[in-house]
Parts: sequence; C-alpha cells; structure tokens
Amino acid sequence: VIEIATLERLHTRFASLDDGEVATYIPELSKANARHFGVSVCDLEGTARQVGDVQVPFTVQSISKPFVYGLALEAHGREAVHARVGVEPSGDAFNSIIELERHSHRPYNPMVNAGAIAVSALVPGASSEERFSRVLEAFSGYAGRTLDVDHSVYQSERSTGHRNLAIAHLLRHFGVISGELDDAVDRYFKQCSVQATAHDLSLFAATLANGGVNPRTGRRMVSREHVRCVLSLMFTCGMYDSAGEWAFTVGLPAKSGVSGGLIVVIPGKLGMATYSPRLDRHGHSVRGVAFFRALAAERDLSLF
Ligand code: GLN
Repeated sequence: VIEIATLERLHTRFASLDDGEVATYIPELSKANARHFGVSVCDLEGTARQVGDVQVPFTVQSISKPFVYGLALEAHGREAVHARVGVEPSGDAFNSIIELERHSHRPYNPMVNAGAIAVSALVPGASSEERFSRVLEAFSGYAGRTLDVDHSVYQSERSTGHRNLAIAHLLRHFGVISGELDDAVDRYFKQCSVQATAHDLSLFAATLANGGVNPRTGRRMVSREHVRCVLSLMFTCGMYDSAGEWAFTVGLPAKSGVSGGLIVVIPGKLGMATYSPRLDRHGHSVRGVAFFRALAAERDLSLF
C-alpha cells in the first residue's frame, strides 16, 4: 500500500518542477495547461488513491500502444504478431524512421511508432469503422467507462503527422503492412487521440497489474500469457531511448505519452498513472518521471 500522505507529499514536491516543454509538434497539444498535475494509484480491489488533477481529460497518445498490442495478440497470437514486429529496444527516439530502412525492415518493437503502426494494422474487423470500434471498446473496458476520441487532436495530428505517414509508407513498401495504408495509420492517429484521465489510466495499469482483469468490473481484457508479453515490452521498450535509465532507476514496466501521461505497473500489486504535460527530450512527462523515481527509491519498488 502506498499511503495518500506519501502521494500528497511527492505531488507537492514536484508540482513546482517547471522544466521541460509542452509538446507542440501536434499543434492541438500545445493548448494543454502546463500547471496540471495529477497522480492516481489504483490497487487490485479497484480502489484509487489520488492527488491533484486526476479528472482532467487528455489524449492517451503512446499509452495506447501496449493496449492495442494486447488486442493484436489476443486476435492473432504471439507468433503472427511478431512475424511483423520485433521485441528489441531500438535505442532511438519514439518516432524514428531510420531503423526501418537500416536494418531488417521490420520495426523494432510495438512501443515505437513504426511498430505501433504495424500493430494497428493487425486489429481485426470487417471495416475500418469496426476495427476502430474494437480499439475504443477495449480502451473503455480497461477504463471501466465509455471513452471517446478528441476529434480536434485527431484532426490536428492527421493533418500534420507527415513523419508517421512516411513510416506507414515505408512499412507498406517493405510489406510489413498490406491493404489500405490509411486504414492503419488513421487508426493509429485515432487510438492516440482517445481521451482519458489519470484516474482512468491508473485503471488501465491496474488491469495489467491484475493479470489482465479489470479490478473494478471483473472483466478480462487480455489473457495472462499476453499480459506477460505486454509488460515485458513496456519494461524494455516503453520508455524508448531512456528505457535503460528508467529500468535502472525505477525498475518497473511503464509507458509514456507525449500529451503528458505516464503509466507504471507493479505486477500483482498496483497500477499507477500521472499526468503533467511538460516533457523531457525523450517525450516523457518531467514531473511524472521525477515523481516515479522518487517514489520507487523511497518505497523500494523496483522489481529487482
Ligand atoms: N501520436 C503521437 C505520435 O505518433 C504519439 C507519440 C508519443 O506519445 N510518444 O507522434
């Protein structure tokens, strides 16, 4: 158990940390309120301890990646998914395109954009609409409430996301994705634009901590076997080119998003999420990283 007093103390300590910048490359994200800071920790009974701006909605961005990866695993199994995407940390930035051209022409892992776009192409369904509703339905199942897309953020990324479109073109060129290019990359933009709160995301994380069953609703979202795949890749690749440092200092599976969300899982124990929009150079929330580093050190949370 992590007491509310601990969360409050660390929240106060890091609320004054103003390093980093709000993401602007997706124009709509630059409107975020940089003062917002929320912390939510959810146990396996579904009870959340929370401090600060935990009800502020923001787009999940890359925090969508492990959950869509889980969906693809459930639909096709591990072999089929990993015929298209690897399991190695890239050591490059999340949006790198170089790795695809340079090496096997197969994306490194499902947590970087190239891998996530390849995985989005694997969401099953008869039409684009049906495939995206599977994603939204799954995310809503993790949150335990109905979630929806922030259409302005989606449009904003759709009209400026040339690098991701280029990645999708290369994936199509190398045969990693087939069919309509727009189908995969558009779903990727949409999944990134689903709105949730820090409170919701602590339930996403708690569902993974709980072996794939949402602790509040009792609904199984992903098999235990696939939770292991998801958490191992969050551990090794979830923090991109600072995954090594994160593993060394925090020692827990995590995933960040460029709108400022960060989820952390203590398997078998807790799901945690923070929201604060200012980012470091890797694209992780500055306050979120500082908060979890301090918490992990203080409470000896590392898996090792
Ligand atoms: N939608 C964002 C992108 O593709 C997500 C990146 C992130 O959160 N790291 O650039």
